[in-house]
Formats: sequence, C-alpha cells, structure tokens
Amino acid sequence: MISPEPSRVVRLAPWRPTTYFHATVESRVMSDFDEAVAESYREAGEVLTTVMAETRELIEPGVTHLEVAEYAEQRVLELGDGLAFPVNISVDAEASHATPARDEETVFDDEMICLDIGVHVDGYIADAATTVDLSDTPELVEAAEEALAAAIEAAGPGVPVGEIGAEIESVIEAYGYTPVYNLSGHGVQRYDAHTSPNVPNRGVDRSVELQPGQAVAIEPFVTDGRGKVGEGTSEEIFELVEDRSVRNRSARQALEEIRGFDGLPFAARALDSSRAEMALRRLTQQGIVKGYPVLTEEQGRLVSQAEHTILVREDGIEVTTDGLFG
Ligand code: MN
Ligand code: MN
Repeated sequence: MISPEPSRVVRLAPWRPTTYFHATVESRVMSDFDEAVAESYREAGEVLTTVMAETRELIEPGVTHLEVAEYAEQRVLELGDGLAFPVNISVDAEASHATPARDEETVFDDEMICLDIGVHVDGYIADAATTVDLSDTPELVEAAEEALAAAIEAAGPGVPVGEIGAEIESVIEAYGYTPVYNLSGHGVQRYDAHTSPNVPNRGVDRSVELQPGQAVAIEPFVTDGRGKVGEGTSEEIFELVEDRSVRNRSARQALEEIRGFDGLPFAARALDSSRAEMALRRLTQQGIVKGYPVLTEEQGRLVSQAEHTILVREDGIEVTTDGLFG
C-alpha cells in the first residue's frame, strides 16, 4: 500500500465542493494509512482507553480536579509517548477546554463531568472523551454515547460529514435534548490535534466527505439547554502559534519550554518557569501563543460528551479508542 506521508494527507482538501470533476480528482489522490502509521494510531488509542478506565474510577465528590488530571497525565506519559493536549475536566455547563490551574483546589461534587484525554504515539493522536455523571442525569450521558455509536455506524469512506451529523442530531433529539451545535468533531494529524475535516453535530455540510487516510475524532455534545456554547474568561490551555524571538527574559524562558510541546496544546501548569502565568500573558498578547478559553453552555445547562477517534480506511473504518464505553 502506498505510504501517505503526513504532509501528503494534509493536502487532501476535504472542504472542496463535491462536483463530478472534483470527485474524479479525489478518487485518484485517495489513499490509506501505511500500516506502521495505523499501528501508532492504534497504540495511542489503547493507551487512552486504559488511562480513561483508570481515571474515571478516581472521580468522586471531594477529590480534586488537579489530582485526577495529574494522575491521568502521568499515566499517559508512562504508557504512551506524550499528551496530545492537557486532560480536560469540564464540569456541568462547561463543555470543553477546562483543565485545572496550578495549585487549584476545586473538588468534584454532585456534577456532570466530561473527561477528555489526548494521547500521542510518535505524534499520532488518539482523542476521546467520556462523561461521568454524579448529577443523577444519566439520560444525558446515554444520549451522547448513543449518538456517538450511531455516528460510528454511519461513518465510512465517502460518507458526507453532514450525514454523520444528522445521525447525531436525530439520536439526541429523540431523547428530547439538543446537540451543542457550535462544537464539532475534527480531523487529527501527526502532531496536530485539530485539523479538517469538521464533523458537525447536526445535519449540515453535506458536500464534505470522509476520505481514506484521515484520522477523525467524532464528538457529540448533548445539553438540556439551547445548544450553544460561548467562551468564558478562564484560560488554562495554550498553544504555540507563531514561534519568534522575544525580549522579555521570563517570556523567553517560557517559550523555550513551550517548544518542547511540539506545537500541541499544553496546560499553563505544565510550565516550570517561575512566573509562567505572566510570561504566558505576554506571549499571548504578542500573538506567539494562543489561549483556549473554557467553553460553556450559554444558558448554564448541563453538557455531556462522548468521543472516539477513527481511522478512515479504503474499506471501512477502525475505531482506535474502541472499548471506552464498556
Ligand atoms: Mn477530545
Ligand atoms: Mn476532539
């Protein structure tokens, strides 16, 4: 099988409109995974599945977010090559991008907790999430898991992403809930945690199709609110976007450390530098680093999430994070 270099996969432009001409061109560039690459994706998925199962067990009232995040991250580093992003612990109306601050003492309570973990092996990423319900709202979690199962069932090479979104939307609506419309699944590539194609959580974007050679995270979010998240003010996750020199000494030290994350998102608490938080503010202001604000359901309603990473192959799909939901 032809080995797709990661850079080659990048050029498969899935957002092209489907016309006869483009379909012909695309069928010629269609590719699949080199087996060694597929194996790295699978290893990342196995590590993630193990760490998720262990970490879920730790979540109970009174335990701090920080000890759970640190446990999961430590286990990822022991079993895999690295974190694809900091462990996200999003509580109640929070949907994504929440991770504990350095020395944070917040403890779990009777809440809905989305646990989202990213692992890489040789840069190849598994991204998956489950929800732990301590809020006595199990149907919200069931809806997310069932929507994900329906999405996986529908997914395959040549399947429009909007068809997957329509499956997600229909399962969630049958529960009487709403998908979070402005969050979507996404492709992953080597050392790139967020790339095309977008996989919506409703039936839009029917012209974009899944293609062999794509690794894709599918992640329905469910809410009993209106289904829109907005950006909060808190930022604990950052990413290097433009590497250039800085004068300030502590910013320069932080930047040196940040280069070690290989362009992947990292937590502020992961930086050793003294005064890292101030350095991060400076680097963000200069456009060198960007922050990911916590995303919260705008009405303050509960949000659940379920996520798998799949490999789109010429003859079907593989779920690299299989076994997450028992
Ligand atoms: Mn995720
Ligand atoms: Mn994701």
